[in-house]
Amino acid sequence: MSDNILVSVAWPYANADIHVGNIVGAYLPADIFARYHRLAGNRVLMVSGTDAHGTPITVRADAEGTSPQAVYQRFHQRFLELFLKLGLSYDLFTTTHTHNHFRVSQDIFSALLDHGYLFRQEEAQWYAPAENRFLPDRYIEGECYICHYPNARGDQCDNCGNLLDSTQLIRPRSRRGTALELRPTEHFYLDLAKLNPALRAYLGRGKDHWRANVLAPSRHIVESGELRGRAITRDLDWGIPLPLEGWQGKCLYVWFEAVIGYLSASIEWADHQGRPQAWKDWWYDPAARTYYFIGKDNIPFHAVLWPAQLIGSERLYDEDRQRRLNLPYDIPANEFLNLEGRKISGSRNWAVWGLDVLERYDPDPLRFYLTAVMPEARDSEWEWADFVRRNNDELVATWGNLVNRVLSFTHRHWQGVVPGPGDLASLDRDLLAQVEGGFARVGALLEQVHLREALNESLALARATNVYLERAPWYGVITTDREAAARTVFTALRAIDSLKILLAPFLPFSAEKLHGFLGYDKPLFGRSRIETYAEGDWQHTALGYDPALASGRWAPSNLEPGRRLPPSTPLFRKLEPEVAEEEVRRLESATRA
Ligand SMILES: [Zn+2]
Repeated sequence: MSDNILVSVAWPYANADIHVGNIVGAYLPADIFARYHRLAGNRVLMVSGTDAHGTPITVRADAEGTSPQAVYQRFHQRFLELFLKLGLSYDLFTTTHTHNHFRVSQDIFSALLDHGYLFRQEEAQWYAPAENRFLPDRYIEGECYICHYPNARGDQCDNCGNLLDSTQLIRPRSRRGTALELRPTEHFYLDLAKLNPALRAYLGRGKDHWRANVLAPSRHIVESGELRGRAITRDLDWGIPLPLEGWQGKCLYVWFEAVIGYLSASIEWADHQGRPQAWKDWWYDPAARTYYFIGKDNIPFHAVLWPAQLIGSERLYDEDRQRRLNLPYDIPANEFLNLEGRKISGSRNWAVWGLDVLERYDPDPLRFYLTAVMPEARDSEWEWADFVRRNNDELVATWGNLVNRVLSFTHRHWQGVVPGPGDLASLDRDLLAQVEGGFARVGALLEQVHLREALNESLALARATNVYLERAPWYGVITTDREAAARTVFTALRAIDSLKILLAPFLPFSAEKLHGFLGYDKPLFGRSRIETYAEGDWQHTALGYDPALASGRWAPSNLEPGRRLPPSTPLFRKLEPEVAEEEVRRLESATRA
């Protein structure tokens, strides 16, 4: 029985590079989860893309003297490069700057309008006569009316951290220094008061599997009685235009259209498969399970606002007008990762950047460490000394050395042919039963998105295999009792072959390598690749995943005696302890006060 699993992953914003806090918050957990479900035989669709619109990108383009298009494309290319290197197996990682996404976003806007879930409201907004346009809050500066910091941004004060109403700033000015005046402007609002009963019903039942740190704040929002309306359009030209006459110069607000990307990317993926209806298996089948991997700062957008958009769209795209779009089944949002005792700050360069760190370390040690410290229930900490220690004491000592010792021994004494075991002793059978029992236990933890615990459970089984090798006869008896040694080595090879699968969602590169060392010719997983897609006069690059050759199965090893193993090399390398000090020095010298 194969389940449909949608793995929706947060959309990185195209105005900054990605650091380890972003990776551990959403992208890596999503990939581990997707890889597990593929091994378990489920139908996985993992989608995301670059969030290309909004004012932070136009602000950056202005500062660099370039176009928003150029800014978004530069970061998008870097995201693709990083995700490929890190082994993130998106079925489609696209962008919001596609005709397809424009169309789907406009369709949802129109559906909400038709069903009476939008209202119009006039508000006062800063207008720059010299520039002949309304200015977004990010373009306004002035004195904070709370703490009186003189250079507060229109949307937020960097000094006291409060969110601000730009119309209340003291002595407001545009970032370009031009004069401002308040003028009325009309916008569309999502009618959240009208949608609130449906949202309360959605969040009120069947959520026992949600994390407490996600459910409690989400319920609070819909039960507080404060949900009224939220603007879904703004005065801006870099974004998706409204599908209405007379609204030139206004766009869909980026918070509103970026979440629609989960749906539009699924539709784009189906088009690329040449099966344009295929996305419906994940969006209309009520048995499909849709998971949203995000950081905790995004919870209201995914647990309240996106469900509101889906509910209000009613039976969009269903030709029989019978079925509703699936609401999020689970939102396993992570807390934050801190760095060496301080909050990560990209703008101050207090960060470990994904592309940079992969210049010096392989992806699997990075994935291993990030999973080991994943902030699933509370904030956690990246410490370079801990990175080195876990690499050496856990990844290398517990797992890499186990594999290396047993494979080397097989090559030295049986010329790389898996020895026949004869009758297994109870010691051997006990180990295999213990390791094989891991498939149910680790699988259950992965299903519940308890990834840290799932990794720990797998590592405990590698440790049990090491303990077994201390007790069972092998190198000490190779000249006196070759049959006993053969039994031990066969048992250890089977355990390693099973552990390879248990660890594969976390460590896909080394699992694939080991899979080859164990004499398999088809890969465990499919292959990721970057493609270019054309849509009329537009084109965009995207990351895709071809599952054609994937042969991995979430099941115990059947490794047979007599199989010839190709030559092998160590899976991981040990790090010198000085590495930690070097990295901390590098971090401190790069940071800006
Ligand atoms: Zn302030």
